[in-house]
Amino acid sequence: MESCIFCKIVRGEIPSFKVYEDEKVLAFEDINPISLGHTLVIPRNHAKDLWEIAEEDLTAVHLASKKITQGIAKALNPIGVACLQLNGPGANQVVLHYHLHLIPRVSGGPELPVANWELKKGDISAIKATAEKIAAAIR
Ligand code: 5GP
Ligand code: ZN
Repeated sequence: MESCIFCKIVRGEIPSFKVYEDEKVLAFEDINPISLGHTLVIPRNHAKDLWEIAEEDLTAVHLASKKITQGIAKALNPIGVACLQLNGPGANQVVLHYHLHLIPRVSGGPELPVANWELKKGDISAIKATAEKIAAAIR
């Protein structure tokens, strides 16, 4: 897509710090990292989000993420890596080209804000009704 910033990175029109690439996938460092090693894994083909991405591109991104996370583990020795993927502006997706964030946390590093939400007891009947609604929509 002409104006998409990640398509421009795929085409090499704007620079990036690449860590991995193959036929279907590109991975590079986030320019505003939550932590050092914060990596974005994207399909070369433009697709906005999880609703739009082709299954083979989704598979390729997530298989590559295993390889890249192994590289992050070897290079940075993190105590954990958050894998995060936002869909839609309402979920704060800013770049509308599917991307998976891999965000490492090293020993002594601050909590990752995306992985540190407060647990609050849910309304069991609302949870049950919503589960039934989603399950029925999938069938
Ligand atoms: P989102 O909120 O859409 O899941 O995250 C988009 C991410 O893309 C943000 O973390 C942001 O820092 C990153 N980003 C936006 N523009 C660029 C860019 O031009 N280069 C790189 N490397 N990262 C970008
Ligand atoms: Zn794009």
